[in-house]
Amino acid sequence: MIPVTKPYLPSREKLEDYVDGIYERKWLTNNGPLVQELTKRLEKYLGVENLLLVSNGTLALQIAYRTLGVNKVVNGKSAEAITTPFSFIATASSLKWEGINPVFVDIDPETWCLDPNNIESAITPQTRAIIPVHVFGNPCDVEFIQDIADKHDLKIIYDAAHAFDVKYKEQSILKYGDASILSLHATKLFHSIEGGAIIFKRREDLEKAKKLINFGISSPDCIDELGINAKMGEFNAAMGLCVLDEIQNVKEKRRNIWDTYNHTLDKIIVKQKWSDHSINNYAYFPIVLPSEKDVLNLMQDLASENIQVRRYFHPSLESVKVLGDYAELPVSQSISSKVLCLPLYPDLNVKDVLPSLQKYLGQFAIVDLKDLPDEKIVEFIQDMDKYFSPSMSERVNLIEYVRKLKEKGIILGTYNKKYKVTSLIGFYANNSDSQISFISYLAVDPLYKGRQIATKLILEAMRRSAENGMKKCVVSTWAENKEALNLYNKSGFYESDLNNNNGRLTIYLEAKI
Ligand SMILES: *Cc1c(COP(=O)(O)O)cnc(C)c1O
Repeated sequence: MIPVTKPYLPSREKLEDYVDGIYERKWLTNNGPLVQELTKRLEKYLGVENLLLVSNGTLALQIAYRTLGVNKVVNGKSAEAITTPFSFIATASSLKWEGINPVFVDIDPETWCLDPNNIESAITPQTRAIIPVHVFGNPCDVEFIQDIADKHDLKIIYDAAHAFDVKYKEQSILKYGDASILSLHATKLFHSIEGGAIIFKRREDLEKAKKLINFGISSPDCIDELGINAKMGEFNAAMGLCVLDEIQNVKEKRRNIWDTYNHTLDKIIVKQKWSDHSINNYAYFPIVLPSEKDVLNLMQDLASENIQVRRYFHPSLESVKVLGDYAELPVSQSISSKVLCLPLYPDLNVKDVLPSLQKYLGQFAIVDLKDLPDEKIVEFIQDMDKYFSPSMSERVNLIEYVRKLKEKGIILGTYNKKYKVTSLIGFYANNSDSQISFISYLAVDPLYKGRQIATKLILEAMRRSAENGMKKCVVSTWAENKEALNLYNKSGFYESDLNNNNGRLTIYLEAKI
């Protein structure tokens, strides 16, 4: 089985050297020398200050909330924190665990990060903080979020569990907000088996948090904070130090896999829109499919070839009942029902998964249908004929129509694994005199509705027409066909002519390319 992720194990000899040291010193935990060394090396590597290592990423969040007073009751009521529903459960459950009510606001449909435009309307007198997530490492709109926090006097704690080594405008993304947290769990880009880190903006917060993770003890006889145990041990730090030595190599290998996925699957898949001021850290390769049904089918198909993919992040957290009763957030619901993460870890041999991915994902691609047998295309048009009146077969000889389209025109569309056509656009982009490209046929199998395939087909036809030197694109449809008119209007077409043909109003639409 090819798993979706696999922990990275560094050089065993090096780890043993560190372990020998631990055995000699017999100093196993409580801010030992390896924890101190890892703290310094991480600060240097990441370009940050005030970094505190803790036992895991979830406690890192909880300690950060406590340190910054986010959990303080306001006017006898529980505090609230505004956060994203599109994340790992720990982002929200850590709030709830600390008695803070998570208030979910919807995400941006392209970046998949919390959409800052939704924050202000969710602020109440109880709101104390904003907890955004740099989801899959993609930086949030940090400036916008900071402005809102300043205006309403709110704390910001970034869940940067995925954002190890992510830079934003040449600086570490971890420098934003009052604090950012990392998870150093075995499955993350950089790990210490279990572990976490908090990066504070202010030194005094770091000092307070150091006490909180050690039972609130400030000196042998003085306990002046209510604390907990969230310390990192020496064995974990040893693993962290070894992985850190090899992190460039880890990232390089991940980058190669990521790049291969990216350029082979580019035309087929929908990806997250990455921040303009940042580059990917290659921690994840998430894709969005046209529908949830496609996700379930694809998971099954890939499982049959021993490839595991994972629905990260699903379900959208506002629908997790143990967190509370929340209204559905449509963007997060939609992305989370259609997202999948592909296998990505340093020793993955991408050749073991690419052919299967191409095979199964290929069905979502808009491709040239010229090479499909004529009958496949005729079959599709016949199938679609029941939705058209008069039907195509009443008007033309289908086999001749298809042959002419193949010979003189361009046919694009989608087909499924069994080479059954599921959508089709046929157009002529060869009139060099008039420079007008003519769309002759467009249909999408109703099973595939709601995926904007028709829009994509039109846009692709326009792009190809422009490539062929066309300046305009025209299409005709019946005046009663409001759905088609809407679609063409949205794609930039406008009415150019009307024609009364045997009592049927044909509308001619055209678009500049
Ligand atoms: C992994 C993860 C956490 C939790 O980190 P642990 O170290 O596993 O406790 C929190 N938030 C996000 C977004 C994560 O992916």
